[in-house]
Amino acid sequence: MAFVDLSMIWQPLEQAAMRRLWRRLARRAENRTQEMSHGDCLILAPHPDDETLGCGGLIMRKREAGQRVHVAVATDGGATGATGAVSGMLGDDMIKLREGETIAACALLGVSASHIRFLGFPDGALSAQSVGLEAQIVALVQELSPSEIFVCALHDGHRDHVDLARVVRQLHTADRLGGATLWEYPVWFWDFRSWRPEGLSNKAGFVAGLRNSSRSARHLKAVALDLDGIVQRKRKALACHRSQTGALEGELGWSGLPASFLEFFFRDRELYFEIARTRDGATKR
Ligand SMILES: [Zn+2]
Repeated sequence: MAFVDLSMIWQPLEQAAMRRLWRRLARRAENRTQEMSHGDCLILAPHPDDETLGCGGLIMRKREAGQRVHVAVATDGGATGATGAVSGMLGDDMIKLREGETIAACALLGVSASHIRFLGFPDGALSAQSVGLEAQIVALVQELSPSEIFVCALHDGHRDHVDLARVVRQLHTADRLGGATLWEYPVWFWDFRSWRPEGLSNKAGFVAGLRNSSRSARHLKAVALDLDGIVQRKRKALACHRSQTGALEGELGWSGLPASFLEFFFRDRELYFEIARTRDGATKR
């Protein structure tokens, strides 16, 4: 009897569900390219590469319009890629590599190294650092006075993404972002695992994930920034993150982000969620 990997059956269905989620949000998303190209901003990225994946087009548009863009990367990216046994590249070497990749990617997007901050928190362990993270973000906001702040989506399933988004939302609720407007950009949002509860069978997990993502598609309202004429430059910028795109020479066993996931970042537009502050201080989408 031939061995059948059951995940191979579910994967295409999960990917189709994510494409449907994108289409449902994109169809209703108002095109705000003009408006979003203006305003100085601070991009908060949980890892090196999230700034390019989530906001590459936005950064280019703002820089073309002469706006100031600062990028702050929360974690050091040290826990990436192949395991040490295979790779041999660990710790400081990996951190240095990923800083260099971020600087190269941001240079293509129009942001110089002097406008990038590496906060240096350990990759994968942001939840234990929320006090320090909060203090660093508040200090950055005081120093840079951005009129807009962009952070990864609270619905991104990756724990560092959720932790960073949560800290920033709490600061927003407490009015500690210097009056800046807050936006979220989806990254792992486009991965079915962000919607699928853990510990369920393939089928039950799929059904639950489908229900969760459909519910969000009904409630969430995205806005769009078009990538007309700049999508190729965004691709080139992401290619600078060689350790994330599976192109790290000399590293056996290295795998990058899958093409079925990357496709969401090179469509005709980027999607964002504006996070409103309600009068009683609570935040909502
Ligand atoms: Zn990330």
